[in-house]
Amino acid sequence: MHLLQNKVAVVTGGTRGIGLATVRVFLEQGAKVALLGSRQESVDKTLAQLREQNPDWPLLGFWPALTDEQAVQQTLEKVVEQWGRLDILVNNAGISQSTQLYDYTMADFEKIIDLNVNAVFCCSKAAASIMCQQHSGVILNTSSMVSLYGQPAGVGYPASKFAVNGLTKSLARELGKDGIRVNAVAPGVIATDMVAALPPAMVEKLAATIPLGRVGQPTDIANAFLFLASDLASYVTGAVLSVDGATQV
Ligand code: NAD
Repeated sequence: MHLLQNKVAVVTGGTRGIGLATVRVFLEQGAKVALLGSRQESVDKTLAQLREQNPDWPLLGFWPALTDEQAVQQTLEKVVEQWGRLDILVNNAGISQSTQLYDYTMADFEKIIDLNVNAVFCCSKAAASIMCQQHSGVILNTSSMVSLYGQPAGVGYPASKFAVNGLTKSLARELGKDGIRVNAVAPGVIATDMVAALPPAMVEKLAATIPLGRVGQPTDIANAFLFLASDLASYVTGAVLSVDGATQV
């Protein structure tokens, strides 16, 4: 049985890393997926890569500015035009930065908040206005383990992820009456391009500090999203699920 048979999903930041793994797992589980990226080139490249793996996968790709209400709304409308509904939104696009406070500019702070928080608000609002008409839908957010502990530099990033948890919990309470569930996954250190570029010895040292003895893989997060998106989680809302191997930071 496929857990997401015929569900329609939109995944932001779907061109690589955690987002791409999520797109792939959702497709494997029967979903139709629209992936969103920041540039047409990266979207086209990812679509070609996925179609090479399976030419039958139902896929769309778009690159709207994620804080442009009209552009986001039009994108979601195109998805609904194509597939008739919208069941799942994964707010995954995000950036991080580790500048020390004394060198941190307002522009740096605003850039992080714009994508990691404002885009989550903008996409969630547009998706919820479609989902409430169906009286069903799931909104999933990518938080981080630093949303629980903070981090010793780059304050904008943990601040943004605390806000993601706030959006998750508040929207879960607000949208339950409309049949919409809202949850987040808080990943630990995940082996995306950034971690893959580190020297293996450094990754080994890092892995040794994690109780499960390894860094996470993008599919570890994708599988958590799969559970939360599926009907197996039909009574789960307002949760921030840690998927971090019990990393202590
Ligand atoms: P990544 O850099 O590999 O991918 C980021 C994605 O976001 C890409 O698809 C990119 O196109 C998109 N993106 C970046 N800037 C954008 C913009 N301005 N507009 C639209 N899209 C944009 O990152 P990742 O590691 O896969 O991270 C994905 C999410 O997971 C982020 O929200 C990140 O904060 C979170 N996260 C990652 C880790 C980790 O260790 N990798 C840990 C905790 C949380």
